[in-house]
Amino acid sequence: MATPGRNTKAWRMIVAGLRQTETHCWRCGEPLRPDLKFPHPLSTTGGHIIAIEDAPELADVPSNVRAEHLRCNSADGAHRTNLKRRGQTGRELVTSPDWT
Ligand SMILES: [Zn+2]
Repeated sequence: MATPGRNTKAWRMIVAGLRQTETHCWRCGEPLRPDLKFPHPLSTTGGHIIAIEDAPELADVPSNVRAEHLRCNSADGAHRTNLKRRGQTGRELVTSPDWT
């Protein structure tokens, strides 16, 4: 089954378009490398501004997708996974009161 934001036809078309129009990674600001292909860490993929888990209905919406390096995409996913393992979402890190 196709997963929005991962492997639907709409998603592939969004990423293909980004590869042709975007020149820099929106996460790290470094130049994108259209000559490199998946699974090279510096190949171009699509990254969600609002994560799929936070807004599944925006997974295949072009305005919610930016071009980024595969390594930057993976780093974001790993970051979220690590926070989940500790029972946090990331927002608590900003809003929780000081430990006293
Ligand atoms: Zn990057």
